[in-house]
Amino acid sequence: MKSLRHIFLIPIIFLSTNIYCIESDNAFQQQSMLAVLYLRTSAEYKANATQTYASAKRHIDTALMEKSWTALLNQKEEYEDLPPAIILDIDEAVLDNSEHQVRSIKNGTSYPTGWKEWVSEESAKPLPGVVDYLSYADSKKIKIFYVTNRTHDLEEYTKNNIKAIGLPFDDDIDVLLMKNEKGWSSDKTSRRNLIKKDYRVIQIIGDQLDDFIPSEETEVSINERKALIDTYADMWGEKWFMLINPMYGQWEEVLYEYCWECYPKQSDKIKQRLKALE
Ligand SMILES: [Mg+2]
Repeated sequence: MKSLRHIFLIPIIFLSTNIYCIESDNAFQQQSMLAVLYLRTSAEYKANATQTYASAKRHIDTALMEKSWTALLNQKEEYEDLPPAIILDIDEAVLDNSEHQVRSIKNGTSYPTGWKEWVSEESAKPLPGVVDYLSYADSKKIKIFYVTNRTHDLEEYTKNNIKAIGLPFDDDIDVLLMKNEKGWSSDKTSRRNLIKKDYRVIQIIGDQLDDFIPSEETEVSINERKALIDTYADMWGEKWFMLINPMYGQWEEVLYEYCWECYPKQSDKIKQRLKALE
C-alpha cells in the first residue's frame, strides 16, 4: 500500500513543480510587458526609429565626399579610396522581433524557446525608416553588410526575411555575417575587421553597444558602460546610430554580471533588477 501511495505521489510532485515553473516564468515575462508595449504601440518609438534613420541618411552624402570619414575605430591605414560600406545589426536594428516577445509573455517562456520557430517564419517587419535609408544607400552604390548574432543555422531564413521586406541584399559576396559562421564568436570585432580590409565603413547601425565597440570593452559595469558613450561622443549621430531596445540586451545582462546562468531562478533575476534600482 505504501509503495502504491508513492506511485501516485510522484506524478503529483512532478506536476506541481511544473506548474510552479510555468507560473514563475509567466510572472517573470510579465515584467517585459511595458517594454514590448512601448515598442509595438507607441508613436514615440516610431518617431525615434524614424528620426534615427532619417538622420543617418542625411549624413551619407558628406560621408561619401570626405574620404577620411570612417565609422570603424581601428580603420586607420590606406582606406580612403576603398569602396564605401554600411554595417547594420539585424535584430531590433533592421528587423522588429517584438512578435516573438509577445509570444514569450503569452506563453510564459524565455529565450531561446520559440526563437527558431519565429525566425523560420521569415515574417519580421522592418523598423520604421530602415527601408528608405537603405534604398538611398543602395542608390549611392554603398555596400550593405548585415552583421548579426543570429546563429549560422538561421542564415537562410534571415536572408529570405531581409529580401521579403525589400531591403538591398548582394548575393555575389557574403553580406550576411552570422554568429558561428566561419568560427565567428558573438564579439563582432573580427567580422568588422574582415569588412575593413576591402571597404571604408561610413556608418554603423545597431541597438547594442557591442554593435560598435569590442565586447571586451562593453562588458563592464553600468556606470562604465555609460562612460563609453562619452568616450565616443564624436561618433554618435554621424557615424554611429543607436536604436532603442527596451526589451532585452546587454543593458539587462549587466544586471546579472553578464552571467545569466548564475541566476537560474527567475526570482533571483528579479532581485538583481530591484538591486539595480537602489
Ligand atoms: Mg540587435
